[in-house]
Amino acid sequence: MWAAAFVVSQYPHSALANDIELPAPLRKLLLRNDLQVDAPHDRRIFTNRDLNLDRISILGFDMDYTLAIYFQEALERLSLESTTRKLLARGYPAEIGDADPDPRFAIRGLMVDKKLGNIIKQDRHGYVGRGYHGVRKLSDDGRHPYREQRLGKELERFAPVDTLFALPEVTLYAQAVELIDQRPELWPGGKPPTYTEAWTDVRECIDEAHRDGSIKDMIREDPASYIEQDPELPRTLHKFRSAGKKLFLLTNSFFTYSDAVMRFLLGNKMSSYPDWFEYFDWVVVGARKPGFFTAGVPFQELDRSGAPVGKPRQDVQRGKVYEGGNQLGLQRSFGCHGDEVLYVGDHIYGDIVKSKKSSGWRTALVVQELQRELRVRRARGMTLQEIESLYRLRSQLAEQISALRHVSRVLGRLPLEQLTEEADLTAGEGSEMLEKTQTKVRTQLDRLRAYEAETVATLEKRSREVDEAFNPYWGSSFAERYDTSRFGAQVENYACIYTSRVSNLRFVSPAKYFLSPHGSLPHFKG
Ligand code: IMP
Ligand code: MG
Repeated sequence: MWAAAFVVSQYPHSALANDIELPAPLRKLLLRNDLQVDAPHDRRIFTNRDLNLDRISILGFDMDYTLAIYFQEALERLSLESTTRKLLARGYPAEIGDADPDPRFAIRGLMVDKKLGNIIKQDRHGYVGRGYHGVRKLSDDGRHPYREQRLGKELERFAPVDTLFALPEVTLYAQAVELIDQRPELWPGGKPPTYTEAWTDVRECIDEAHRDGSIKDMIREDPASYIEQDPELPRTLHKFRSAGKKLFLLTNSFFTYSDAVMRFLLGNKMSSYPDWFEYFDWVVVGARKPGFFTAGVPFQELDRSGAPVGKPRQDVQRGKVYEGGNQLGLQRSFGCHGDEVLYVGDHIYGDIVKSKKSSGWRTALVVQELQRELRVRRARGMTLQEIESLYRLRSQLAEQISALRHVSRVLGRLPLEQLTEEADLTAGEGSEMLEKTQTKVRTQLDRLRAYEAETVATLEKRSREVDEAFNPYWGSSFAERYDTSRFGAQVENYACIYTSRVSNLRFVSPAKYFLSPHGSLPHFKG
């Protein structure tokens, strides 16, 4: 039935549209144009801040991990191999390459403490929920150094894991810390590097691997092994173009690599766009985000083979390809306000936080992990509900227990004569009444405490079960200890909308009004 196929959202205006009986050929055509087809559960788009696509005239896209979705395990293996080779060349022991690291060990949103050799996951307030020293789980004692401080202020000491590109460096760093602790004799004179030096080494080697072609040459040779060919991507971009929107590409990758990746993704996929450039009104490569949003680097025009044309300049023109540049210059060429531009990217800091703070662009975050996260949420829906209610129950019990403890303390200190006077009792009667009441309170307290202990045990058991399903080391990327994680909070604060891949936009009309749940404080609920 048409109504079933065209359920668009929970909002009444679209429900009304669903009631219209469409003639069969029209219905078929609409479907073929991807109009308002119901999105599968794991490919939905989520809204943090109202966003009216009708008022967006320009859509910009980052390339890596945004338009190009990488096969994470394959790319990680490639990164690990090329970085390990570089570490060996720096004198690291061969054992650094021996481990067979679990690809699930590193996730986005973690923080590396270079000083202590720890990898930690924080909640939205910055408190550490769990962590690993190298590859070894930190006990509650091990987390002690983080008790007193909210982290993130000592920029030199902590390195955030903001993008999926950074996962291999976390994995390698953990292995290095393990070797430093367990096998120091592998280094000359038994003197391994400090944890901070090891971080710098891993960072520099992976940085080099990105820059010298170790990683990119392999991908260019065989893109199909590393990049997902999303058959819906060309149609998604076309849909926005045919709705009159202009598109741009803004990537930190340089021309040769961008050209290879984009050709793989978009070249010759639709007859009206034989060349990938034709999807975009502006193309900026080697953009050096986040600096692109704040510094005034000039634009260098390139021809379609990537060779420089003319001198660097501050202004840009539609239909051309540039390297470098800056947000203000690009914005001038758009000829519209910043809030009419939607930028879609995957890097929480470089694409989203930075652009939101300095450009006024609206933001869409691509979180590849979201698709799996949604599947787990659905599969574990019952347990998640149980956790919700156990958590509420635990708060209620804790409240009752602390109230009763207060009563018990007051009773314990109550002068007997005050009671005998108040109730006109003999001393014997008074103390009997007091004792009986204290016993009652104690019994009730014991009962509640046992109930609380049982609730906490079940709560922890259930949480471990769902954590295991999300990720055995870290649980969900978006949550930490019954709260939003630091990463989850960044998504909420900086991304107007978020979804698992660009082609999910094909399920919405180019005039879609994304409406967010309105903000709420704890007291709004009752
Ligand atoms: P974008 O996401 O399209 O802006 O491109 C990201 C670019 O940054 C890709 O070319 C990556 O290879 C590159 N990249 C990611 N991590 C590093 C790094 O640590 N050092 C240098 N380049 C990096
Ligand atoms: Mg990217």
